[in-house]
Amino acid sequence: MFKGILIQKDEAGYRASLTDLDESQLPEGDVTIRVSHSTLNFKDALAITGKGPVVRRFPMVPGVDLVGTVEHSGHSEYTVGDTVILNGWGVGEKHWGGLAQKARVNGDWLVPLRGRFTPEQAMSIGTAGYTAMLCVLALERNGVKPDDGEILVTGAAGGVGSVATAVLTKLGYSVVAVSGRPEEAAYIKSMGAIEILDRDQFSSPGKPLGAERWAGAIDVVGSHTLANVCATTRYRGFVAACGLAGGMDFPATVAPFILRGVTLVGIDSVMCPRLERLEAWRRLSRDLDVAKLAAISNEVGLSEVMPLAQKMLNGEVRGRIVVDVN
Ligand code: NDP
Repeated sequence: MFKGILIQKDEAGYRASLTDLDESQLPEGDVTIRVSHSTLNFKDALAITGKGPVVRRFPMVPGVDLVGTVEHSGHSEYTVGDTVILNGWGVGEKHWGGLAQKARVNGDWLVPLRGRFTPEQAMSIGTAGYTAMLCVLALERNGVKPDDGEILVTGAAGGVGSVATAVLTKLGYSVVAVSGRPEEAAYIKSMGAIEILDRDQFSSPGKPLGAERWAGAIDVVGSHTLANVCATTRYRGFVAACGLAGGMDFPATVAPFILRGVTLVGIDSVMCPRLERLEAWRRLSRDLDVAKLAAISNEVGLSEVMPLAQKMLNGEVRGRIVVDVN
C-alpha cells in the first residue's frame, strides 16, 4: 500500500482525498517509480478543486510533475535506481500522476535527472519552470536578444513568472514584471525584475494598439492581459503565450500582427517533443541561478495540498509548491 491523492467523480460528487492505494491499482506502464517529490501546479489546482475540466478519467491521481527512483523497468533506457523526472504527457489528467508515493508510467515520458539539480530542486522548477524555459527558448528562436529592449513577464510572482524572470535576468535581458501583489515586490525584484507594473493596467479592455514598449513578452494570464501585451509590443516583437490564469478568452484585434508584425507563439509543455524537453532541462541547468530556487520554492506534505489548491486558484501562492509525498 502507498499514500496518494485520489480524485473521484460519481453519484457522491466530485471530490479529492488523501487515501491508501494499492500497487495493483497503478495504471499500465513499463516503468514503476518510487516518487520522492511532486508539485502543485495551476493545472493540478484546477483538477483537485474541480474548477476546470482537467481530469479526463476517474478515479485519477493528480500531479503533472514527479521525480523519483526507478523501482522496476521494462524500458531499455532506465534501470532500477535511476532518478527520473516526469512533466506532463497527460499524467494527472488521463494517466495517474505524481501526487502519490508510487507511479507507473511509459518510460518514453521520462527525463533522466542528470546535472546539478537535486530531486527537490527539479520539482522547484517543475512544469512551471520548464514551461518558462520553453518560452525563453522560443524568444531566442525568434531572434529576441538582450540588447533589443525590455521583456515583459506577466503573473510574475507565480511559478512560470518567477522562473522566467530569473532565467531572462541571468541571460542579460531587462525584465519588466506585471503583478497584482504589491506585497511580493521585493520577491519579484529578487528574481531580477527591474520594474513592476500593476496587473490592473493590463486586465481591462484596451486599445487595439498602444505605445510600443516590449521587445518580447511571456504571458501566463491570457484574456485582456494578453491582448494588451500584444498591443504594446514593439514592431516585429515577440510574445509567448502559455497560460490562462486570467481567462481562456483572447479579446484582441489583429492590429499588432498586421501593422507591427508582432509574432504570437503558443507554448505547450504537455506534449512537447522529447528533444525539446531535454534541451529545456539542459538550459535550465545552465541558465537558472540555483540560489534563487530556495526563494522560489515552498515545500509541503501531501496532506497540505488540498487547501493550497484553492489558494493557488485565488492567486495567493508565491513561486512554486514542492510536495514531499513521503
Ligand atoms: P501560478 O498560480 O503559480 O501563477 C499564476 C500567476 O498569475 C499568479 O501568481 C498571479 O501573479 C497571476 N494571476 C493569477 N490570477 C490572475 C488574474 N485573474 N489576473 C491576472 N493575473 C493573475 O501558476 P503557474 O505560474 O504555475 O502557471 C501560470 C499559467 O500558466 C496557468 O494558467 C497555467 O495553467 C499555465 N501553464 C501552462 C503550461 C503550458 O504548457 N502551456 C504549463 C504550465 C503552466 P501575480 O500575483 O504576480 O499577479
